[in-house]
Amino acid sequence: MQDHLLFDRPLVEKYDRPGPRYTSYPTAPQFHTAFAEDDYRAAAERSNRAETPKPLSVYVHIPFCKSLCYYCACNKIITHNTERAAEYLAWLKEEIAVQGALFDEGRRMTQLHLGGGTPTYLSNAQLGELMASLDAAFHFAPPAEREFSLEVDPRTVTPEQIHELHDLGFNRLSFGVQDFDLDVQKAVNRVQSEEDVVALVQAARKAGFESVSVDLIYGLPLQTVASFDATLEKIIALRPDRIATYSYAHLPELFKAQRLIRPEDMPPPERKLELLELTIRRLTAAGYVYIGMDHFALPEDELTLARENGTLQRNFQGYSTHADCDMIGLGITSIGKVGDTYSQNVKETAQYQHRLGEGRLAVFRGYRLSEDDRLRRDVINALMCHNRIDFAAIEAEHGIVFRDYFADALEALQEMADDGLVAIREHEIELLPAGRLMMRNAAMAFDAYLAHSKGRYSRTV
Ligand code: SF4
Repeated sequence: MQDHLLFDRPLVEKYDRPGPRYTSYPTAPQFHTAFAEDDYRAAAERSNRAETPKPLSVYVHIPFCKSLCYYCACNKIITHNTERAAEYLAWLKEEIAVQGALFDEGRRMTQLHLGGGTPTYLSNAQLGELMASLDAAFHFAPPAEREFSLEVDPRTVTPEQIHELHDLGFNRLSFGVQDFDLDVQKAVNRVQSEEDVVALVQAARKAGFESVSVDLIYGLPLQTVASFDATLEKIIALRPDRIATYSYAHLPELFKAQRLIRPEDMPPPERKLELLELTIRRLTAAGYVYIGMDHFALPEDELTLARENGTLQRNFQGYSTHADCDMIGLGITSIGKVGDTYSQNVKETAQYQHRLGEGRLAVFRGYRLSEDDRLRRDVINALMCHNRIDFAAIEAEHGIVFRDYFADALEALQEMADDGLVAIREHEIELLPAGRLMMRNAAMAFDAYLAHSKGRYSRTV
């Protein structure tokens, strides 16, 4: 396992600086409002006319939550008024119908992801309505080809409901656990019992979910190495197929909820690195493979296999095994990627309803990629998914001479090469085991916008 990832503390400290996560390239700060509804419709039309139209991937954003987790940086609406969710669902159905009409009937929908907020804020009956609307508007791929997932807040569902979710057509789920320690849970206002999580994971296995994932966060208030070690041990014992360990970015000046965390409870920066080191050591010792960017998976998991055979993909939801899809974003704030464009929906429910009420789409900004953007996107994806850039493959696809075109980037990468993090060879660049935690830093060398970007980013490690 250690050939995949090495934790070199001094180098991790040296390269830990703000940088994009590259769920898209160019990143969201480049999106602009000159790209509007008509541009999106044109992109959908072009995607239908492609020689081989891509399969479809749909993301649905459910923004509601019953209580506020103090670390939260998501776009959410905290409310106990379930009427609001019922009203939102009605508009969502409108949007599904309008969007579904833009894409040719023959195009299969192979991927679905429900994120939030809390998708399980909706009752299973409401989720059933949502699935029926999607099924009516899009052509679902046969069950064996589908990757239909949702995020589950363990506080909102029972084991019986987990079985129902499987019956509704979902075959993957991720549980937001974050930390089992009660003091940490209280400090972030997210108390959930270990027993409940264990019962839900067992129910998911029994129900036949193909992939069960658990999300953890390190760097939360009151976390110690010993307390997080105990959480990791319990999670490893549950043996989820995938584990995502996110680094908590404490930015109270940006996210109001985080101001509710007591500053004196925050772990010092060196503790965060200890927690990261611990996480890598424990998970790799337990047989998990580092996929990249906070994600670990069991050796037999599809993500690990895709990483090994070079078919791993990266999208707005993280890593995926599915072939490149056209992605449709539904609900407030959601982002789509259709052909050579990105698009984003409005962020407020009032605007969302207003636009849909006028028969318009909810897209309010976006971006159409230039040839240079597409080239850089391919290079960054190669690094993030395969730890390697094959110059010949990029040259054949884009008609450039890699070493000439990227002379500046190669120069910028030299420091990482001198530090033993990347190898720059005659025909390729490879992220070395000590550099894999710093893949964002390497990707930043190929980002043409970063120097002038006003975006605020989390730290790279
Ligand atoms: S972390 Fe998740 S459940 Fe908690 S407030 Fe944010 S979106 Fe809601």
